Amino acid sequence: MISAVTVRTSPSSNSPILETLQEGDKVLLKSTGATYDTIIFQNQLAYIRTQFLSDKQLKNRDVILRIRDLDPNAPMVALTFDDGPNPIATPKILDTLEKYEAIATFFDLGSLVERFPEVVKREEAIGCEVGCHSYAHKNLVTLTAEEIEEDLEKAEAAFQKVLGHKPYLYRPPYGNINSTVKEVLDYPLITWNIDSLDWKLKNKSKNLAQIRKTKNYDGHIILMHSIYNTTADTVAILVPELIQQGYQLVTVPELAYYKLGINLRTRTVYNGF
Ligand code: ZN
Repeated sequence: MISAVTVRTSPSSNSPILETLQEGDKVLLKSTGATYDTIIFQNQLAYIRTQFLSDKQLKNRDVILRIRDLDPNAPMVALTFDDGPNPIATPKILDTLEKYEAIATFFDLGSLVERFPEVVKREEAIGCEVGCHSYAHKNLVTLTAEEIEEDLEKAEAAFQKVLGHKPYLYRPPYGNINSTVKEVLDYPLITWNIDSLDWKLKNKSKNLAQIRKTKNYDGHIILMHSIYNTTADTVAILVPELIQQGYQLVTVPELAYYKLGINLRTRTVYNGF
């Protein structure tokens, strides 16, 4: 049982201690290392032993985040992509993100994470956040707590196997959430406030027109799907357009951190900030 975690000024057990944290305290993860993880603590870089960021420690506390240094005064928007990974459309989306040094949040299905592990690994490797969108895309509000738990265990096992850790975020299929879903899913529950309708429109120009109906994207979460080539084509136009307009393309946890100064809490629904 860990009772206290020391935060140090450099990645060495001989270095000065900045602070001693208790179980449940918040830290912001900047990057991971073999023996020390780099965190942002009191607005500076600091270090804690990697063992304290295990999945077991993550449960029932604030989610530990990967936050980049961004301009807090420039507008930010989070692109989110559901239902993947897809071996054709998702890599095209990743190509665009990489080209413009942008990142996004993917909500992947455990069943497809198993089938296309390399695509999921690439999502994370380029700095995207990879959240869970269930294992089998069932409408969770029609399931019992046991059935939701069963789906969750399968999904978590898939992410664990491919990425080496459980996901930090969860987007329930269709954005459907009830009290049973909240009870079982010990995750921040992420929905959206801009719907591209890409699953229905399946047309680059129509997708773009739908998204452009919103005039100010700052703090918003845009819903798209990573399984359509038409969406990949949309992203190839949208990403440079947003950047040209001055937007920073960020993950959902980054958006929460910069817009509200918060870590996402589990069993809480967020549709934008
Ligand atoms: Zn979905």
